[in-house]
Amino acid sequence: MKSFAYSPLPGCVVFGAGRLREVAKEAAALGIRRALILCTPEQRALTEQVVSLLADSSSVAVAGIFDKALMHVPIETVREARALAQEWGADGAITLGGGSTTGLGKAIALASGLPILAIPTTYAGSEMTPIYGITEPGLKKTGRDPKVLPRTVIYDPELTLTLPAGLSITSGINAIAHAVEGLYAPDANPVNSLMAEEGIAALAKALPVLRKDVNDLEARSQALYGAWLCGSVLGHVGMGLHHKLCHTLGGTFNLPHAETHTIVLPHAVAYNQAFAPEAMARVARALGPAKTPNSMNAASAAQGLFDLAADNGAPTSLQSLGLTQADLAHALDLALQNQYPNPRPLEREALQALLQDAFEGRRPTV
Ligand code: NAD
Repeated sequence: MKSFAYSPLPGCVVFGAGRLREVAKEAAALGIRRALILCTPEQRALTEQVVSLLADSSSVAVAGIFDKALMHVPIETVREARALAQEWGADGAITLGGGSTTGLGKAIALASGLPILAIPTTYAGSEMTPIYGITEPGLKKTGRDPKVLPRTVIYDPELTLTLPAGLSITSGINAIAHAVEGLYAPDANPVNSLMAEEGIAALAKALPVLRKDVNDLEARSQALYGAWLCGSVLGHVGMGLHHKLCHTLGGTFNLPHAETHTIVLPHAVAYNQAFAPEAMARVARALGPAKTPNSMNAASAAQGLFDLAADNGAPTSLQSLGLTQADLAHALDLALQNQYPNPRPLEREALQALLQDAFEGRRPTV
């Protein structure tokens, strides 16, 4: 067995349908007396639910609601939210939403140290990590700081019932990407690898069910359980080529986060397949046997991931997101700029082929 180090991150996880009802109790347990509630404009209705739950408690008051969370956490939004948190005398933040909303809470915590109670409504996984990202003009800066790790996370699958089928599939595969890269990370450890395999398996089972019926609460629970495990892997171990490519594509060409992950993942896995055989065997095992006419034979990890997206109606080509052939050349140069840990070294020609396959949406051949 390889040697390893494992330092679990602190934090409390409360999981189950209907557990949003415990929001006041959990906020009070964190010492929050005046909560700043964060959401996107689209999720404003959900905050009203939380406001009425807090109104029933004598221990936690609502300091204010900031409903302008935006993708990529722009610095202007961060400045406005930080100023309001101070003006309203908030002593903690409740984030209600996907990675963009959790990200805004983290940006506030980075400056103030306010505790975060995160209530995720997608499968992105940010709630389980001490990683933050803030976009200043033209540049997304990311970093790690224990201050931004949410202290408590309430996972209530009922809150994901409104997530449209398309976003459920791509957000779920975004979560799987964390687990896949966690399995071959240089700092991988047996505990996170168990979580990764279980997380992939839970999502791979749940997503095809959700494609047919977004209201299936058992599948919603399985998917959110998988998202928790995959998010936890992201919080504990370093990511490789796939995350780097998605960061570059998302940041430079403003491509949508979950869709970009969904399209690139099978190709990043094909690129690494021969250099991380054990990890890939675990990914293929977690994805389960090939299920569709598209994949008659046992699928490799890369093919299984491609089929999971294609068979469930997710986009499979970067072209379909509006990227151009000229953008691709620029993306290649950016991806080669820094070396970073990855099972296979960065090779220009092979990377170019990877990006071209992702651009065209080809099923990997490995
Ligand atoms: P998102 O938070 O941007 O949400 C996408 C859209 O879905 C928004 O309009 C939102 O209002 C809507 N939405 C969210 N939940 C919904 C629900 N249950 N029902 C209906 N609509 C819903 O998307 P995301 O994919 O969750 O997060 C992406 C962002 O998170 C990216 O900026 C990414 O970089 C970041 N992220 C950060 C980390 C980290 O560790 N720091 C990890 C993962 C993702």
